[in-house]
Order: sequence, then C-alpha cells, then structure tokens
Amino acid sequence: MSQNTDRKRILLCLAHMSGEEMKYIQEAFDTNWVVPLGPNVNAFENDLENFVNTTTGGNTLNKKVIALSAGTAAVHLGLVALGVKAGDEVICQSFTFAASANPVVYQGATPVFVDSEPGTWNMDPNLLEDAIKDRIAKTGKKPKAIIPVYLYGMPAYIDEIMEIAQRYDIPVLEDAAEGFGSNYRGQTCGTFGSYGVMSFNGNKMITTSGGGALICPNDEAKKRILFFATQAREPFPYYQHEHIGYNYRMSNICAGIGRGQMTIAADHIAHHHHVAGFYADAFKDIEGIDLHVAPKDYMDPNYWLCTVTVDPKAFGIDYEQLRQILDAAAIESRPLWKPMHMQPIYKNAPAYVNGVSEALFKIGLCLPSGPCVTDDDLNYIVDTIANARK
Ligand SMILES: *Cc1c(COP(=O)(O)O)cnc(C)c1O
Repeated sequence: MSQNTDRKRILLCLAHMSGEEMKYIQEAFDTNWVVPLGPNVNAFENDLENFVNTTTGGNTLNKKVIALSAGTAAVHLGLVALGVKAGDEVICQSFTFAASANPVVYQGATPVFVDSEPGTWNMDPNLLEDAIKDRIAKTGKKPKAIIPVYLYGMPAYIDEIMEIAQRYDIPVLEDAAEGFGSNYRGQTCGTFGSYGVMSFNGNKMITTSGGGALICPNDEAKKRILFFATQAREPFPYYQHEHIGYNYRMSNICAGIGRGQMTIAADHIAHHHHVAGFYADAFKDIEGIDLHVAPKDYMDPNYWLCTVTVDPKAFGIDYEQLRQILDAAAIESRPLWKPMHMQPIYKNAPAYVNGVSEALFKIGLCLPSGPCVTDDDLNYIVDTIANARK
C-alpha cells in the first residue's frame, strides 16, 4: 500500500526561491524604498519586458509591462483600459478561475461565457464566433472585449481567436496568468491581444508572494494604466480626481522578490517541462490515465500544472477516488477548475456551451508539478497512481 504518513506532503506548486530575493529586498530597506514604487519595480518591469518581447520571423515585440498588486488587478485594469462600462457584455472563457471573470462584474458589465475545445481545453474559436453573432442579434451591440485564457499554461488557438476578434473589431485581453513562459509559434502568450495578464501569486510559475502585471501595447497605454493603478490623480499640487482610480501598484518589496525570481524563471520552466516529460513516459503504461499535452507542435506550454484525465472504466476508479488515495499518501492533487457557467454566482450569465469543460471537470486532476517536486517524489506519485488502479 502506498500509504506513507512519514513522507512530507507533496504540493501542487510550491513557491521556490533563487536566493537572490533577499538581496533586492535588503536594498529596498537600505534605500528606504518601502513603498508601491521604486527601483525594484522599475527593474522588475524591465526584466518582464525583456522576457515577453520575443523575436519571431525577424520581428521583435516592443510591449510594455506594468507591475501590479495582483493578476486580478491586471484583468480589472485591462477592462478599464478597454473602456468596459456598466451595461456592456464581455466574452470570457468559461473554463477558468473566477479571477478571469469577476472584474467584468466589478465594472458593472456582464460576462458571456464561451466553452472550450477539447484539444487545448481553451476557448473554442467556432463557439466564440457563434456567441458574437448571437449577442449582436440579441442585444443589438457587440461584446466590448474577449478574454481567452491559457489554462494550466496551455496555449489557446490564438491565431483563430485573433482572426475572429479582428473581423468583428473586438479587442482581446489575454489571461496569461497561468501561461508565464508559454509560447505559440515562438511568441509569448499574453502578447497577441491588446492587453495580457500575468500573475505572480504564491503558486504560479514565479512569485512575488502576491502580485501581477499587465502587458500593454505601448508606453502611452502603460502611462494610462499607471494613472488608474495609482488612484487616478490629476497633475495638480493638491489631490484632484476626475476618474475613479484604484490602488493596484506593486510594492517595491514584492518587486524585489520578482527580480530574484526572474533569475531562475528559465529553470522553473525547464523543470515543469521535465515533470511533464516524466509523467508522459510513466502514464504510457497506465491504462485509463491520460496526460493533457499540447495538441500541436507549434504550441509550447509551460506545463504550470500537469493535468490528467481519469477514465473510470479503464482505470477502475474515478478521479475523486484517486484524489482521496493520493491525499492519504500525502500527495496533493486537485480537480480541474469548475467552469464559470456552472458556478452559482454566474448561473444567470449568458453561456455558449458544448459540454467540453463540464465533461473535463468530471474526470480531471491536477498533479504536483512545481519546482520543489523531485524525481523521487515523481516516482512515488506514479507508483501510488499505478497501485491505485483497480
Ligand atoms: C491566478 C489567476 C488569476 C489571478 O491572479 P492573482 O494574482 O491570483 O490575482 C487570473 N486568472 C487565472 C486564470 C489565474 O489562474
């Protein structure tokens, strides 16, 4: 039996430090920049810009990045930048974490959910177009924005999504919170649309303890976001406000952690790939367990969380029974995101569904994938799964 209470619990994706973080934090204290701006914030933004501005086909991107207090704040400010207001509709991938959709409601707008296609588990381009046409027919106006998501770091069919978005002239806000370092045809996920969201929460690819960033098209857009992220203060000697602003800027301490993390970002991504490769090899021999992998060779996921589907007929037990066995063996696993159109808070929101995300939700599990997961852990996890088969 795989029960082993002496073993340290293996978690999905635990934060992992480079050792450089304290140096930058110490610098912030030494220079008294213990505020939501400062040298670490500027340097971290610079690191992020270098990271996302990939070169493909001889073209180097020139996106700007603004560091914020959370990925959720980045989604919110992206919507503010796109002029989303009360009464508007915003199309959002249904198969995601609530933070992709909740800021639509902060703006008084209505999310319209679109289901996934089975290859990437991300927004189904055909269903997206159906939804756009139907919203225009029903409401007489176009949705104000489209939010595709890179779920578990898997690239979406972004070329197809962008083609539809451009044809209907609707801006795209990419939620790449889980897709840090994922590429599509050699270009970083989060750089295809008007704006792109990054997250540095404790369990993401890199962390600032809590934090996020918004990828912006140019300096002008970045300045505009900065204005809204710092309480929308007009340039007066006193406090003058002509717009509703937010307190969403990243602190100089958190940015210090981010700078340290950027020194090992490539190692983290390589490790997640190693873990995915390990699982892929192991699960070839375990009938009923399928690793979710990129459906196309031009998609390069970061494998933030490796996910599997459990076929209860072939495997003998279902995903929830397997989750409990893993839990008893001190291995954390978790069901997939419950689709937004199935959530009580969104029961009245329009939804265009095809059954894909609901079916996946009933068979899928996330497995430990983070930088602290060792080969010894992986052997133990795979053995525990193999022994759970009935
Ligand atoms: C984590 C996450 C966010 C929000 O990021 P925070 O930094 O936690 O606010 C948004 N969207 C998705 C898909 C996420 O996984």
